[in-house]
This record gives sequence, C-alpha cells and structure tokens, in this order.
Amino acid sequence: MQKSSAGCRCHIEAVYEVDQSPIGKTSRSTPGTYVKIFDEIRNLYAQLPVSRMRGYSASRFSFNAEGGRCETCKGQGVIKLEMNFLPEALVPCEDCGGRRYNPQTLEVLYNEKSIGDVMEMTIDEAAEFFGAHPKIVRPLSLLVETGLGYLKLGQPSPTLSGGEAQRLKLVTQLKRGVGRAENERIRKMRKPGSTLYLLEEPTIGLHMADVDLLLKVLHRLVDEGNTVIVIEHNLSVIAEADYIVDLGPEAGADGGRVVAVGTPEQISKRRTSRTAPFLRKVLRPTRNKQARSS
Ligand SMILES: [Zn+2]
Repeated sequence: MQKSSAGCRCHIEAVYEVDQSPIGKTSRSTPGTYVKIFDEIRNLYAQLPVSRMRGYSASRFSFNAEGGRCETCKGQGVIKLEMNFLPEALVPCEDCGGRRYNPQTLEVLYNEKSIGDVMEMTIDEAAEFFGAHPKIVRPLSLLVETGLGYLKLGQPSPTLSGGEAQRLKLVTQLKRGVGRAENERIRKMRKPGSTLYLLEEPTIGLHMADVDLLLKVLHRLVDEGNTVIVIEHNLSVIAEADYIVDLGPEAGADGGRVVAVGTPEQISKRRTSRTAPFLRKVLRPTRNKQARSS
C-alpha cells in the first residue's frame, strides 16, 4: 500500500475485484469483442474496394447486427437445441457452417481471408495477420505476451475457463493497448496508477504454468503503479509478494489473528509463522540474495 508523506492520505481512486466469473454469458461475447478490436477489424473490412463498391459499411461486418450476419443463427454460429427431458445442446449452424456471416459478407477478403476466417484465427495468428495495423495489433500482442495467444478471436466467452476469463480481465486493465474494461465506470473514474485490485484465491483450478502467467500480469499491474491484494494459500504467489500479512495460527475459528507481517524473506524467518518453513523452500536464491543486499 502506498503511503504519502502527509501520512494517511489515500492514493487509491478505484477498487476492482477480479474473479474467475465469465466475461460474457452468450456466444455474442468473444475475446475479440471483449478487448474491443472488432471495431477496428470491421472498419478495415469496410474500407476494402469490394465493400466500397457494394456499399458495405462497418456494421455489415458485425455478427450482432442484421445485414451481414447469418440470419439462421442470428450471427451466433450455433443453434440452441431444446430437447424434452435433456439439457440444451448447441450445434453448429448448418447455413453458415458456424461462420456467423452470410455468403455475400464472406466474399469480402483481406489478404485472402474473410471476416469469418478472422474469427477462427487464434490471437497469435491474428497478431501476425494484422501486423500492418497498430490499433489492432497492440491489444493483441499484449494478450500474446500474457500467454492468451492460443485463444480464438471468435471463441464464445462462455467456453473460456475461469482462469482464462480472469487473466483476460486483468490484461485489459494494463495501460498499453487498453481495451474495454469489465467496468467502464471504474475506468472513467480511475486515474493512472491508482487502482486497488482485489483477488481471492485466483490460482484455484489453475495449472502451474497458468499461475506463472497470472503472476506476470499481476507484476505488470504493480509496475504500472497499482496495488494488488491477493488472498492466497499458493506458495508461489505468496513468495512473489512485496508484503505479506500472515493470518493464523490455525484454520477457521482458531485462526484470524495476525501471526506475522513483512516481506517473504522476513516471514520465512518467523518462528510464529506456520507458513515460514514452506516459504523457505520456495523462495528463490535470487530473492534471498536481494534481501541480504538491501
Ligand atoms: Zn448461421
């Protein structure tokens, strides 16, 4: 937590809780729409000679509006099958083959790819494909750097894992290549470097490799001047913290008291802390060295 020289003046302008809940509930929401690059991609397609000749505007390339989309599936690419006594099932739309657009729209090609093909690209592929368009590439390369490059641009948001949704929310909070934040209101009221991010056990259900990527995003948020508070049992996360408040001594009703506070190095030496012996094992030699020199 930052402290000003005046003592208690608070520098935090906004608080944002980041959880693993889905970023969208329908297949109208995709990673591409969430980071708001579809507006730019649609503009690009509307400027192509074929579009100009036919009078196609950017809205023609929206799968959420009438005109360019496949009307059988209303641009969703899938049809909901409701069956008696059985859970609903989603099947690919037969008319567009899951590509969300009508044939005329799909005839407009940029570098031999239609807007439907673009939806099928991974973020990695799209970052290369749109290399000449900084406005599209910037948010994409941020997603690539934080390990989300394998997601498809048009992948329906409900199919993302909790960890992927969480990371996508965090990445859109990074300054470079800002996309749409989960909450526009927070974005408007926030000043740069003044947001407090709260995360409760963000590593639940995450693979070890994903934990590393999550840490990378959290570090970047802190590097930009924000504050991140994480409630966590995962030792890899605890070891990466600047400051730890260790609660205990036991779990549940026998806990809740502050057992130790300090840097990971300091906590690892406290006899009162149950976490200490485990923390000592994960603290990297480099961190120990840094602590000794400071
Ligand atoms: Zn369709």
